[in-house]
Order: sequence, then structure tokens, then C-alpha cells
Amino acid sequence: MADAPSRRIQVDLSGQVALVTGASRGIGRSIALALGRSGATVACIARNVEKLQAVADEIVAAGGAASVHACDVTDAAAAQATVDAVVEAHGRLDVMVNNAGITKDTLLPIMGDEDWDQVIAANLRSVFLFTRAAAKVMMRQRSGRIINMSSVSGLMGNPGQANYSASKAGIIGFTQTVARELAKRKVTVNAICPGFIATDMAEALGPAIIDEAKKRIPAGRLGEADEIADAVLYLASDSGAYITGQTLVVDGGMTA
Ligand code: NAP
Repeated sequence: MADAPSRRIQVDLSGQVALVTGASRGIGRSIALALGRSGATVACIARNVEKLQAVADEIVAAGGAASVHACDVTDAAAAQATVDAVVEAHGRLDVMVNNAGITKDTLLPIMGDEDWDQVIAANLRSVFLFTRAAAKVMMRQRSGRIINMSSVSGLMGNPGQANYSASKAGIIGFTQTVARELAKRKVTVNAICPGFIATDMAEALGPAIIDEAKKRIPAGRLGEADEIADAVLYLASDSGAYITGQTLVVDGGMTA
């Protein structure tokens, strides 16, 4: 029997070049695979080269094209060099997904300076560094899509995540401003706020917290990384051309 036709979003990004930070696992891996399946050449960015290579191999095995660029996204020189290397290797940059992120959860009175600085650097400074580098390329091209991974924690806060919530709320303000700056050059800039998504990051919280969280999700389940990847495909597609400066919440109703 023939496979049932997919009812998931399918877009044609052939000829386009996409860059995904945090592509080595979790949501970023799903985004990289989805962009690859859609025909884009995908530049996969993270620190763990072996895991990145496995993702790139999977894209190529499915008939796509990919490259691997090891980079600590908090490093300004490395971020600029990585964007330069991607443009040098592939000739252009059409879609950039700023997805890399970390948590260092603890209650405010005992939150260390390092807990604050590391989370702000990995989650917010990285978005500034990569967007600044990509914006120059996309403004010249007069086209581009920048998609920044925020979180429902940036919209409503979450006890134990003052650092993380601040970084994710910062992404939303940054996205709105840069969207206004780049709109005339046909570059869109949007944020996605995932709710609770089944990845290593969620797993690290442990089963008790996950069960408790499920009670707060009207859909009654965690989201899948592929459900965030589908939102990225929509914003990256021609259908997303008139959407900019927005925050797309994908959370099973958590913030409703
Ligand atoms: P994850 O499984 O922990 O993956 C995080 C990714 O970020 C990895 O690929 C990691 O790669 C990369 N990364 C972290 N620090 C980096 C650095 N300094 N330089 C380069 N790469 C770095 O997390 P996830 O759940 O997929 O989350 C992805 C994004 O979605 C994050 O921004 C997260 O805040 C956001 N989000 C997640 C959820 C959720 O429930 N899972 C909810 C809302 C928002 P290396 O370790 O190889 O460098």
C-alpha cells in the first residue's frame, strides 16, 4: 500500500542556504533536517562536531546538502567567522535560525553571577552576534529570513529561570526592533516561543517536574521538536513574506 500523503507543511526551499545554530540535537536538529528535506543547503552550527556531522550525514542521506561549522555562539569573532565561512562556501544566506540555548536554573537568591552571565551569553548575546553578521549579507541580497528561538518563559516567566526568562524576553524585544530596521530590505525577523518540548533540555528537569508541567498544558502533552520545525518552515517559506516582528507561540495552549 502506498504511504498516506503527509498532512504536515511542505515547502520548497531549493536553491536557498540556511544556517541553524544548536543543530547538533533537540529542536535545532529537527529544524536542520526539515530545512534539508525542503531543499535548502543547511549549515549546521554547534560545539559538538561529531553530533553535527551525524545531522549533516542524515541530511545528505535523505538527498539534501549540508555543511558543518564548529562554533561557540557566544564568541563574537567566531560568530562572524562562521557566517563568513557559510557565505564563502555556499554563496549566500537566506534563512538563519538562532536556536542554540542553555538553561542554568536556580532560584534568584542563590543564582550566581556565572549562572546569569552564561545564560545571557548563550541565549541572547549569540542572537545579537549572528543576526548582526547575517543582516549585512541579507540586506545586500535584499532578502532573508531570521528566526529566533525564544520561549514561553520569556512571555510569562518561570520560577527558577530568572536568567533564562530574561534572555528569552530580550530576544523578543531584539526581534521586534531588528524587524523594523530590516523590513524595507525584504528581510523578515520573527521569534518562536516553544512551550514544553520533548528534548534533552526538558528531560534534564526530571520526570516529577515534567508530570507537573503536563498538568499546566491544555493539550495534555509535551510538544515534539518537529512541531517547532514546522513553524520554522512556515516563516521561512514564501507564505511568511509579510510576517515580521512577530512572536509565534507553539505551546499546546500553555499561555492561552
Ligand atoms: P538542547 O537539546 O539542550 O540543545 C541545545 C543546542 O544548543 C545544542 O545543539 C547545543 O550544541 C547548542 N548550544 C548550546 N550552547 C552553545 C554554544 N555556546 N555554542 C554553540 N552551540 C550551543 O535544547 P533544545 O530543547 O533543543 O532547545 C533549543 C532551543 O529552544 C533553545 O534556545 C531553548 O532555549 C529553546 N526552547 C526549548 C524548549 C524545550 O522545552 N525544549 C522550550 C522553549 C524554548 P552543543 O552542546 O553541541 O554546542
